[in-house]
Amino acid sequence: MKPMIKTQKARLYALLDSEEEIARAALKRALDTPGNRRSGAAHDSNERDYVAQVASYALEIERIAQARSRLSARTYGVCSECHSDIKFGRLLAYPTTLWCDKCQSMFDQLHEPRQHQPARDHGTRM
Ligand SMILES: [Zn+2]
Repeated sequence: MKPMIKTQKARLYALLDSEEEIARAALKRALDTPGNRRSGAAHDSNERDYVAQVASYALEIERIAQARSRLSARTYGVCSECHSDIKFGRLLAYPTTLWCDKCQSMFDQLHEPRQHQPARDHGTRM
């Protein structure tokens, strides 16, 4: 992709920083909230929600870290599917995105948009 100008890059770094701050604060809040844990069998679904929530915050933090390393490796802003440039406006809206508009909408047509994939047994890092 054509090299990003310094101010664009600085804006994205700042954006990733604030996104990470938000995700970390949310994660910390979730972990600090008493009562959700060790609540027994009657609250199994609460426990599941809680675990899913914590996992999604952790995943977000991981995605932000990956986006940051793509930024410094200069692979940032290139669609991982079709290798075309991702529009800067889209990067501002979704700074951790891996896909351009076209690939994203193709994916959304194939899957329920913005729904979490069911948890799989393999590759769980939590
Ligand atoms: Zn694409």
